[in-house]
Amino acid sequence: MLTGISASPGIVVGPVHLLRWEVPEVPQRAIDESAVPRELARFRAACEKSVERLRAVRERAEKNAGPAEAAIFDVQVSVIEDAELRRRVEDVIRQNFSAERAFDVVMLEWREHFARSTHAMMRERVGDLMDVHIRVLSVLLDLPDYDPVDLPKGSHAILVTHDLTPSLTLQLDREAIAGIATDAGTRTSHVAILARSLGLPAVVGLLDATSRLTSGEKVILDATAGVLVVRPTAAELKDAAARAHVERRESEVLAQLIGEEAITADGVRIQLLVNVDLPDEAAGAATSGGEGVGLMRTEFLVVGRATMPDEDEQYHAYTNVIKAFEGKPVVIRTFDVGGDKLPVGGYPHEPNPFLGWRAIRMCLDEPEIFRTQLRALLRAAVHGDVRIMLPLIVTVDEVREARSILAEAARELAERGVAHRSDVPLGVMIETPAAVITADTLAKEVAFFSIGTNDLVQYTLAVDRGNARLATRFTPLHPAVLRLIHRTLQVGHEHGLNVSVCGEMASEPLMAFALIGLGLRTLSVAPRSVARVKQIVRGIHVSVAESAAAEALEAGTAPAAEKVLRERLNSEFS
Ligand code: PEP
Ligand code: MG
Repeated sequence: MLTGISASPGIVVGPVHLLRWEVPEVPQRAIDESAVPRELARFRAACEKSVERLRAVRERAEKNAGPAEAAIFDVQVSVIEDAELRRRVEDVIRQNFSAERAFDVVMLEWREHFARSTHAMMRERVGDLMDVHIRVLSVLLDLPDYDPVDLPKGSHAILVTHDLTPSLTLQLDREAIAGIATDAGTRTSHVAILARSLGLPAVVGLLDATSRLTSGEKVILDATAGVLVVRPTAAELKDAAARAHVERRESEVLAQLIGEEAITADGVRIQLLVNVDLPDEAAGAATSGGEGVGLMRTEFLVVGRATMPDEDEQYHAYTNVIKAFEGKPVVIRTFDVGGDKLPVGGYPHEPNPFLGWRAIRMCLDEPEIFRTQLRALLRAAVHGDVRIMLPLIVTVDEVREARSILAEAARELAERGVAHRSDVPLGVMIETPAAVITADTLAKEVAFFSIGTNDLVQYTLAVDRGNARLATRFTPLHPAVLRLIHRTLQVGHEHGLNVSVCGEMASEPLMAFALIGLGLRTLSVAPRSVARVKQIVRGIHVSVAESAAAEALEAGTAPAAEKVLRERLNSEFS
């Protein structure tokens, strides 16, 4: 049995589909002069086969996600067909290198060259070069486990891979894959958030599942418990089937809560909103029982793409979400790329991406990209109750600069005579200790606060949110975190601002109880968690949650805080 972290619940049984989406090791192999023609032929055949596969992948991505997203695979085909690249590889083969060695050397050179380019367009190609590098080498080395889509429908396969990137997500055949297991990731890493958005059971943070499993072996993916049972016995299979049945029954019960109100047992209304991640998730999210969108993560519109979405494309994507929610509030966050979210088109690699050029920093440094997004948002705002939210704020200067770019965007639209709203409320995410400590300064200049606990925990405890080895140290109930949340609420309320939590913490029943006790009245959760959180809300008394949270704030450690909270929550349901 392999133990990881539950990222998206569900229990499924199926064969492992191992996918190694990483550049394979290439053996050092010099060849004789006489072998050159054979290696040239191998190289050309591998290119042809890769192009053929890419065309199939493209077709699937177009069906899964749409033509704009699928275009990334055209770019990859054009890389393989690039005459200069071909010539260069063939020259190296003629210097007595094997086809794989020659291709590896040239791709490394090209990737390096593109990454250092001063042209954004060139840097944007680095991710594609990497994908091509992996794909062609896998063909040349005859590696069986390189193709994420080569699966018959109805396979019920469990995809086992190191990490799930947005570009891999695009390629997945959801009719063939029943669950996901990854080496990397934690509950709040983006692999987990993506898996939840796909609605597939997922266990992440298994550390070395890709080296311990082989394709085809049968496993139980118990994503509710966060484990993977390898080659299960008949008794284990029976037990899994029984638990899956119980889960289905539970979700039927929860489904009945979708239309109910989120009011505590002592009559306090809690506003439950949903987080929308993938663009095509909006319609489903709108029927999950939430009263609007508390966080739309727009970066999933841009990552894994051949080009940045232009203003019109973004306008349509935002409008779709706004319309799906029929006039309910929709908080749309500006691009939060970087960190563990793939940077758009491969900006240069950074040694400390989480302390690096991400989120608002990138937007302010690339005002053209930012203004385009803001124009699209102001246009879409005509269709509903839109609010704009800025991620990873550490200083009020960032808010001021963003506001002035927002004003420019509005001016440009006015000059073009395009319908838009220029009075869209602007709020910030509170996800750094700096933002909490200076919340009073921020509060004077923004319309709302939304606490991003995934990052707030990471930056407060200095624990990388995506590092599976540190998962047990990622403790949202650490008193330092609880006190920062409490402080944010106090300041927000002193200034009459709405304060919400949109990090994963809000989706967890025990933590939602703690947050309500701390004073939160708006929570934004994963669509699949709405009913479960509603069940908690309806079963608790705010007075009990408040006294439990007060004790948790004074507890010396996360486990002590958890113990207090759990006892009090259990007493509410006994
Ligand atoms: C957070 O940090 O809690 C958050 C909601 O943003 P993201 O997970 O997208 O970084
Ligand atoms: Mg964040």
